[in-house]
Amino acid sequence: MEENRKKGTLCIVVPCYNEEEALLTSARLLLEKLGGLKDRGIVSEKSRIIFVDDGSKDKTWELIEQLYGENREITGLRLAHNRGHQNAILAGMMYAKDYCDYTITIDADLQQDVNAMELFIREYEEGSEVVFGVRNSRKTDGFLKKLSATFFYKTMRFMGANIYENSADYRLMSAKALDALSEYGEVNLFLRGIIPDIGLRSSVVHFDVFPRMQGESKYSLSKMLTLAADGITSFSIKPIRLVFCMGILALLVGFGMIIHIVYEHYFGYTSDGWSSILMSIWVLGGAILLSLGIIGEYVGRNYMETKRRPRYYFWQTLSHDDNCKACSCKPCSDEKNT
Ligand code: UDP
Ligand code: MG
Repeated sequence: MEENRKKGTLCIVVPCYNEEEALLTSARLLLEKLGGLKDRGIVSEKSRIIFVDDGSKDKTWELIEQLYGENREITGLRLAHNRGHQNAILAGMMYAKDYCDYTITIDADLQQDVNAMELFIREYEEGSEVVFGVRNSRKTDGFLKKLSATFFYKTMRFMGANIYENSADYRLMSAKALDALSEYGEVNLFLRGIIPDIGLRSSVVHFDVFPRMQGESKYSLSKMLTLAADGITSFSIKPIRLVFCMGILALLVGFGMIIHIVYEHYFGYTSDGWSSILMSIWVLGGAILLSLGIIGEYVGRNYMETKRRPRYYFWQTLSHDDNCKACSCKPCSDEKNT
């Protein structure tokens, strides 16, 4: 039976890390957007905006508290410390999944075109459980970011990960898709790779990206490299196979060298061989170290995964909704006690 997918309840999930400069402007624009969607009967009156403070060190949480005080449509979640963009999005989506029909995740700087939301929702109403946002171009990125992103997506695809090139964390997920996502227990999260792996009906929406208006990028080089490493190692064992192939190659070269040395020995052309030995030591030593490093990376990640530590922990929760299960904030406790 085809369920009625018109006028569902939307939760817009916004991860925020040190976003005091951008937050108020973005909140105003998002409230306008949500108001418009409600007025036009596209989403239900219960729809919300969820700000997830990812352990910010500036005034982000105070601003979220202020926004929560002024608007019934705003929910605030505060993570106990900085767990990274991917975990902040996950925390918001997992919190929202029992309340809403679908979520749309968007960055707090609103670099992604909010007007694509209607297109996301239309795809959902037509039956998609996941709608992937794919950026139209990388015009707003610097040369280095453009180059590293292209390299990253090409590597990911070569490694066998099922990932859309230039996909972003601007996407719609239905409650059903969120339920499926909650079954993935891994700690090293790379949502752009995991979500296509869920396999439910999906579609793609293209959107424009604008330059960041307030504040600076919160994605430091080390955060970007960690994300890339998470992406590659959590989806593929190809690096290990590559090491295996390198090992075979090195062995073949070694055998070739033995034949060469025996030949030289018998025909009396022996030289002292100092340079070739030294080179072999360096090349083989390097290959061994590299191999150990890659294997170590997997072993290390395996070790982290076996701990099954919680990926986030809510410190404080601000919600105007009675059925927010995880809520223990003062307004809600007061309401429950009366
Ligand atoms: N972000 C986060 N935790 C972090 C780093 C970033 O929640 O540790 C959020 C940030 O506030 C923003 C989004 O992730 O909403 C994307 O970050 P940013 O816009 O700085 O990345 P860029 O657009 O430069 O790739
Ligand atoms: Mg940004």
